[in-house]
Amino acid sequence: ESATLSRIGLAGLAVMGQNLALNIAEKGFPISVYNRTSSKVDETVERARSEGSLPLTGQYTPRDFVLSLQRPRSVIILVKAGAPVDQTIAALSDHLEPGDCIIDGGNEWYENTERRIAHVSDKGLLYLGMGVSGGEDGARNGPSLMPGGHRQAYDNIHDILTKVAAQVEDGPCVTYIGQGGSGNFVKMVHNGIEYGDMQLISEAYDVLKHVGGLSNSELADIFAEWNRGELESFLIEITADIFKVKDDDGEGFLVDKILDKTGMKGTGKWTVQQAAELSIAAPTIAASLDCRYLSGLKEERESAAAVLKEAGLSDELGLGLGRNVSGVDKKRLIDDVRQALYASKICSYAQGMNLLRAKSNEQGWNLNLGELARIWKGGCIIRAVFLDRIKKAYQRNPNLASLIVDPDFAREMVQRQAAWRRVVGLAVSAGISTPGMCASLAYFDTYRRARLPANLVQAQRDLFGAHTYERVDRPGAFHTEWTKIA
Ligand code: NAP
Repeated sequence: ESATLSRIGLAGLAVMGQNLALNIAEKGFPISVYNRTSSKVDETVERARSEGSLPLTGQYTPRDFVLSLQRPRSVIILVKAGAPVDQTIAALSDHLEPGDCIIDGGNEWYENTERRIAHVSDKGLLYLGMGVSGGEDGARNGPSLMPGGHRQAYDNIHDILTKVAAQVEDGPCVTYIGQGGSGNFVKMVHNGIEYGDMQLISEAYDVLKHVGGLSNSELADIFAEWNRGELESFLIEITADIFKVKDDDGEGFLVDKILDKTGMKGTGKWTVQQAAELSIAAPTIAASLDCRYLSGLKEERESAAAVLKEAGLSDELGLGLGRNVSGVDKKRLIDDVRQALYASKICSYAQGMNLLRAKSNEQGWNLNLGELARIWKGGCIIRAVFLDRIKKAYQRNPNLASLIVDPDFAREMVQRQAAWRRVVGLAVSAGISTPGMCASLAYFDTYRRARLPANLVQAQRDLFGAHTYERVDRPGAFHTEWTKIA
């Protein structure tokens, strides 16, 4: 029977599903595909034909789809997260048998995956929640894959995943993440880190444009140059490309015609919520999320700009608000911004990695942070040369308290701090907000200080709430009748 049956199936043929299915077929694994709306099945079959007669078979009912697969069956689902996944599982699981496996490749909330694992386990089915990163191009040509859940389910398709994933010099960008919803959780934090990277890059752009007075062509050159150094990454590369594109429908560059309102789908918010739940400081990622919220208030911001200008907030104060600040050394500013971006980025990754570790400890997932950095080196949106250094930092010391104190990163942070402070200082005095860079710098300055003003907060708490405090010079909990002493 195996001669006519497919090795694997994929249900849900929108952008991600179609491309991942073609990728799998291209790697030589016969695949059956299915979609609720049948026109997408036809489309995918047609693409498989035109992209090289790939071994892909279209199926038009859940039953035919499932019965077209070799056992134990493996079925990847790539539909909208949430209820559509439940509906697709319900449609398929009537025909699945014990030992078969469902793999949800969507951006799912990890607890939904854990609920489904428990539910399908009752029927003897296996389950993986697999983060897939890299967008359309990644899915087609090699994504970063983050599968978590039943180990046996992973082993069943290990050969497929390792061929389909992006390939970097130290292996394919896939690894078994851990039990339960760990794969989805790791993908969620990946997206939170992605929010941070994008925010920091947009701030670098803002400072270079409004403080340094750089043109789009200059920005394209600068980002292209940065992409040949320590900042080399997919997001820096595409940013250089964006600055080159002229507007087809008018004068000038397309980037200047784009409305300054950012969209979002929820994974950044979940990351910040989880950080708060676990008492992990993630200020750079939170600042990125806040900035997306503020960007959405376009009309309010336009009114505020007018009101505050009338109230006297203008260049007459000599602040050079929102303008090329006179006397700025362009060349030095560019170099400073590059260093500020890099140092800010390290802090943001430190936050994301510490969030992953805290969740891993809470859930017993036993996440390997170095391995996560490795599988993010290719395929995904945050892929960057710099992830190799993160991998090595955790290989040197898996219990590293923070990336900031890894000896190599610590040296780099110290080397870059003067430039970093100059950029943030200049931006502050010019009235150009850099919430991500400021959050990273404040995180760094808070973390590196052996003594913080938290003593005063404790005194206040003890005064108004008798919450007690500890002392620096002897053990125990103390309470003082503060107002009587004064
Ligand atoms: P999508 O727009 O999120 O979802 C469209 C697909 O879901 C279609 O195949 C649609 O079928 C199906 N669907 C919706 N409701 C359904 C229901 N009730 N029952 C059965 N099928 C249903 O597709 P996508 O952009 O390819 O993303 C798929 C998943 O990957 C999502 O979780 C997304 O967050 C994640 N993801 C996307 C990207 C990206 O760059 N787009 C990157 C990484 C991860 P019909 O054709 O019948 O409507």
